[in-house]
Amino acid sequence: KSLDGYSGSNGIEDGDRRVSASPASTKHSLLQEQRSKLPIALGREALVQEFRENDVTVLLGETGSGKTTQVPQYLLESGLARNGMIAVTQPRKVAATSLAARVAAEQNVPLGSSIGYSVRFDERCSSETRIKYMTDGMIVRELMSDPLLSKYSVVIVDEAHERSLRTDLLIANLKNIFQQRNGISDVKGKGKGRADGSNPLKIIIMSATIDAEKFSQFFSGARILYVKGRQHPVKIYHSSHGQVDYVDAAMRTFFQIHTDSPAGDVLIFLPGQEDIESLEKSIQLYANQLPQDRMSVLICPMYASQASGQNSKVFNPTPFNVRKCILATNIAETSITIPGVKYVIDTGKCKEKRFLARNTGGGFDTLLTKDITQSSAIQRAGRAGREGAGHCFRLYTEESFKMMTLSAEPEIMRCSLAASLLQLKCIGQDLESLELMDQPAEESMKSSLIVLFLLGALDRSKEITDVGREMAAFPLEPVYSRAVIASKEYGCTYQVLDIVSVLSASSKLFVESSEQRDAVSEARKKFRHSSGDHITILNVIMAYRDIAKSENKNGRREWCRRHFLNERALLEATDIREQLMQTCRRLGINDQASCGDMDEPVIHSLGHGLAMNIALLQPDGSYKQSFGQSILKIHPSSTLCDKKSPVIIYDELVYTNQIYARGVSRISKSFLVNFGALRQHS
Ligand code: ADP
Ligand code: MG
Repeated sequence: KSLDGYSGSNGIEDGDRRVSASPASTKHSLLQEQRSKLPIALGREALVQEFRENDVTVLLGETGSGKTTQVPQYLLESGLARNGMIAVTQPRKVAATSLAARVAAEQNVPLGSSIGYSVRFDERCSSETRIKYMTDGMIVRELMSDPLLSKYSVVIVDEAHERSLRTDLLIANLKNIFQQRNGISDVKGKGKGRADGSNPLKIIIMSATIDAEKFSQFFSGARILYVKGRQHPVKIYHSSHGQVDYVDAAMRTFFQIHTDSPAGDVLIFLPGQEDIESLEKSIQLYANQLPQDRMSVLICPMYASQASGQNSKVFNPTPFNVRKCILATNIAETSITIPGVKYVIDTGKCKEKRFLARNTGGGFDTLLTKDITQSSAIQRAGRAGREGAGHCFRLYTEESFKMMTLSAEPEIMRCSLAASLLQLKCIGQDLESLELMDQPAEESMKSSLIVLFLLGALDRSKEITDVGREMAAFPLEPVYSRAVIASKEYGCTYQVLDIVSVLSASSKLFVESSEQRDAVSEARKKFRHSSGDHITILNVIMAYRDIAKSENKNGRREWCRRHFLNERALLEATDIREQLMQTCRRLGINDQASCGDMDEPVIHSLGHGLAMNIALLQPDGSYKQSFGQSILKIHPSSTLCDKKSPVIIYDELVYTNQIYARGVSRISKSFLVNFGALRQHS
C-alpha cells in the first residue's frame, strides 16, 4: 500500500509468534494467564536462581517482556526479600503509579497494601507493603533519613538506560551502601569475606538498551542477564520531506491510517503536554465529522504530569469498532507498554531539560523541544510490533534519522544540580567526592555551589547550614523551600505555602488561549494584583477556597472553566500544600502564620528564594539580570507585562526569539539593597 509522502524501508527483526488470548472465567485468572504468557515467564526459574546467587545483576530485555512487573513478584514469591521491602525505581511518576496498580491487580490485593507506590506529593503504602514502586527522586530523598536504605532488601533500578540525574545518584549511592551492608570493603571483593552481612542488599539494574557493560563495570563486573522479548516485524516509513508542523502532520497521518488501514490502535509520540492537548483537540474535531458507520476514535492522552489513575483507559481493551489513538510523550517509549498498538506515528521530537550555565556562575534549567536520538526512534518503532506485525510512520526523513545522535547524554551532564547537591550535603556527601558513572561538568557543579551559597544553604567553606538542612527537608526546588523558610521571619508562611504549592504543581494554573485572549484577560481581571503574578495566584487560591465552601464539584469546575483556570492544578496544589504543612510542623514552623492582605512580606519571602532571579529596569524598558548578564522582557502573559517596575523577581525564563521572564512580581529597591548588603557581608 502506498502512503502519501512516505517511502518504505526495512523494519525491525522478526520474533516469536503472536499469543492468542483464550477465554478465562475471572479477571484474576485472566491476569494470571497473561502473566504466564509474558516472555520473561519462561526464564523465571533461571532468573530467580541468578538473583539468589548474585548480589548485583544487570538485567536487559526488550520492552514489554515483563521485567518491571514480573521481576519484583518473582523475588517476593520466591522468598528472596524476606528481610525487607523491594524497591523498584522509575524516572517518571506515572510509570511508578500505573505499574503499582497493575502489579496490585496481578497479586489480587488492593493498591497500597502489599503492593504500593511512593512519588513526590503522593504515596500509597502501608506497614504491609512489600513491593514499592517509587520514583528515583523519592528513594534519593529517603537516603536523607535512612542512609543505608535499610528498609529494603532489594533495590531494582529500572529504566537505568535513561540515566536520569536521580538514577545516577542512586546508583552511585547503592555502590557505597552495598559495600557497607554486605560487609565488603570493595565491590570487587565480591564473594570474599563478609564482615557484617546481617542485612545484605541485592541490587538489580534493569535497562532496555545495550549500556549493560557500563553498568556492569561500575559494579565491578556484575553479572549481565538477558530476557528475550517478543518482537514482530515493523515496517518503517520515512517522510519524503521534512515536516514544518509535526502536530498537523501527525493528525493527517493518523486519519490516513484511520481511513485506509485495518483495525489496530495508533500510538503517536509527541514532545509534551501542550502538543498532546492541541492534537487531541484537532483529532477530536475531525473525528466527530466522520460518517456514523465508520470505526470511531477513542483518544487517550498519556504524559508524565497526569494524575494517577487518569491514564487507566489506555490499558482497557479497545471496544469493537473503535480505534484507540494514544497520544504520548516518551513515557510510552520504554516505561509503559500499551497493548493493542499496531501503528506508531513518530514526530521525532522530545523535550529535554538542559541547564544553561552562565559564565558569571549562575544558570537555569530550560525545557526545550529537540530531535530524539536513534535509540529512541528504534524504541518508538518497536512499540508497533508487540502483538503482531506493525507499521511505524516517521514524520522525518531517513537522512534525518541517520543524522540523529545515537543515544541521549546522561542528565547529570546537562541539568541543574543545586537540589541534588543540597540533598547530598545533608548526608555528608559531595558531588566531587561521590563515585558517579559520569562526572558532571565543572562549570555546572560550580554554579550549583554558588546558587546554594546565595540561598544561604551552604556557607563559605561549602558546609551545609541550618537553613540548608531545613530547605532539604521540603520536597521542593531550593528556590521555593528557601522562600518558605524566609516566610518565618516575615510571618506569612500561610500565604507563601499557597503560592509555592501552585508553583510546584505539575500543571499550569492559568489556561492560555491565544484565540480568546481578551475574554481570558477580562475573566481574570478581578484576581490581578498590582504587585504582579505571585499575589495574583494567591488571589485565585483564596477565591477558589471561598467557592469551594459554597459550591459542589460541578460548581467548582464551572467556576474554574469560566475563569480559564486549570482545576487540576488547584487540586494538585491542595495535596502539595498538605504535605508542605506536615514538613513545616516537623520543623516547628508555624504554617498558620498569616500577614493578612499585606503583599510585601510575601514578596520579600519569595525574593529570598528567587535571589538569582532578580532583574532591573533599563532605560530602554527592557530588564537586565542583577545576577547574570542577560537582557530580558516580561512575558506577555504576566500581569506586569506593560508596567515599568524598577526591580522584578521572576519564577523562570522562557526562550523564544528572545528571553522572557515568566511569573513576575515587582519588589522594592530596599529589598535589593538589604539583600545586596547581606550578600556582601557573607
Ligand atoms: P518491561 O518492563 O519488560 O517493559 P512490563 O513488565 O512493564 O515489561 O510489562 C509487561 C506487560 O504487562 C506489558 O506488555 C503490558 O501488556 C502489561 N502491562 C503492564 N502494565 C500494564 C497495565 N497498567 N495495564 C495493563 N497491562 C499492563
Ligand atoms: Mg519496564
